Amino acid sequence: MTLTIIGAGPGGYETATAAAAKGIEVNIISDGPVGGTCLNEGCIPTKSLCRNAEVIEDMRKASAFGVSFEGQTGENPEVKFDMAKAVERKDEVLAQLRGGIEFLLKNKLIHLHIGKASFVDAHTVKVTSPEGGETTVSSDYIMIATGSVSASLPIPGNDAEGVLTSREILSLKEVPKRLCVIGAGVIGLEFASIFRSFGSEVSVLEYCKDILPRFDTDMAKRLKQSLGKRGIAIETSAQVQSISRNGEELTVKYIKKDKEVEVVADKVLMAVGRRPNIASLNLSEIGLEFTPKGIVTDANMRTNIPHIFAIGDIRGGMMLAHVATFEGERALNTIVAEMAGENVECPMNDGIDLNIVPAAVFTSPEAAVVGKTEDECKAEGIPARCLKSFFRANGKALSMDEPDGYCKIVVAGEGGQFKPGQILGCHMFGAHSADIVQEIAALMNRQATVEELRTIIHAHPTLSEVLLTAARQA
Ligand code: FAD
Ligand code: NAD
Repeated sequence: MTLTIIGAGPGGYETATAAAAKGIEVNIISDGPVGGTCLNEGCIPTKSLCRNAEVIEDMRKASAFGVSFEGQTGENPEVKFDMAKAVERKDEVLAQLRGGIEFLLKNKLIHLHIGKASFVDAHTVKVTSPEGGETTVSSDYIMIATGSVSASLPIPGNDAEGVLTSREILSLKEVPKRLCVIGAGVIGLEFASIFRSFGSEVSVLEYCKDILPRFDTDMAKRLKQSLGKRGIAIETSAQVQSISRNGEELTVKYIKKDKEVEVVADKVLMAVGRRPNIASLNLSEIGLEFTPKGIVTDANMRTNIPHIFAIGDIRGGMMLAHVATFEGERALNTIVAEMAGENVECPMNDGIDLNIVPAAVFTSPEAAVVGKTEDECKAEGIPARCLKSFFRANGKALSMDEPDGYCKIVVAGEGGQFKPGQILGCHMFGAHSADIVQEIAALMNRQATVEELRTIIHAHPTLSEVLLTAARQA
């Protein structure tokens, strides 16, 4: 049995190694460096720069902890920051991790092809190398994992010099004095937070009436306040109209409450979403079903052509690295079961619940979510109640001087489809929220109730006690 995987991001390369471990011969094709968006221009480089931001913030606060530096005068010393050095460190981290993936792919059952893939027929893919050479690869099964690319606004000036995507901003050698971010989604807010710590004056323009429109409204409003306190100017309900360049400056015009307003900046980050990377695949040629949102699949990641699967960002679902990886696992489980002659149900029962997906926004402070929001419960007619707690009442948070934070656990009420007290979601922001929310994801995977959460001993003093405090409100 042979499998071809197009794309070597977290969906593609993890599935390739898992398939080889099951004795499947794999061709993996990549037109970019292994690790995909996640490793080369997404998760890892941003989190590397987040760490720079954290170090800077800690240094700014040092005097409150009685720490000062030789020769320092005054309460709030000006922290010097070398952006080029930060980018160099980030690139070293990426190179190390890329080396790890390349090593994993050096398996006698895995054949790595560097080049752009496009379908010739439903079992055959043509690979065009960077030098222009062409080869073809045929296999029993094919998995498409080509990810996504930055979207842009169709407005005048969207391609002006100094208008950046998340890819280019990761390699700036100098900190812009003024940064205007278009879009207060995950990417926009992470970069707004990072560059504010680096010293930029940051303004964020968001079309919707709240930041992070798909997140819990209550949490998003509080996070907005918290980012505002750090000096990040966020305008919501702002309709961006145009970008124009005058000498070294960029002017972003937008409409707010029927008035035209403008922001002047040195760099503009376009962070208005991502779209599936379909362009070069030649999908129409083989009759594979897709929409502008992405490739259409069933819950086993199977497309309308039974031996072709699609996983990760290319499906246009939750564009997250761990989603890509687990969708790959689901697709592989389906293929393996089919090879063994089993009758494969959809969704197959492999223990993976693709509805329970924790996600984090690595701002300072972090935000993290899993499961249903209060608004979703209302819209779906699910009786639910919310239990809340605050970081300012948590001993560890105060010891760390991280009092800003909020936690909301959504639990099922009486009379609905869920058992009363069952944990349906958690929406929080505050120090290390990304790690804390994982506990709720684990409990949700076991359909646990908030009463069960209350009986689990949490170490003291820890930030995870914010969950226990919320649970005790039940
Ligand atoms: P990708 O990682 O995009 O990989 C696709 C691969 O396919 C690429 O290597 C590409 O070169 C290759 N390819 C494309 N077309 C072809 C072709 N025709 N032929 C051959 N190869 C092809 N997610 C998180 O979970 N946590 C985070 O903290 C996070 N931070 C992010 C920060 C930023 C700035 C961005 C942009 C994204 C972030 N994401 C994060 C999202 C995450 O990067 C993606 O969800 C994830 O990379 C998707 O994995 P994938 O395998 O579907 O595709
Ligand atoms: P997004 O969909 O999260 O946010 C885009 C934002 O732009 C939205 O708030 C939207 O309302 C706004 N917008 C759209 N049109 C606009 C306009 N005309 N004017 C002003 N604002 C406008 O998309 P993103 O932030 O680009 O991120 C893309 C994907 O990458 C996300 O789906 C996310 O899951 C993934 N990602 C994840 C992480 C993480 O897990 N930490 C980090 C970065 C990116």
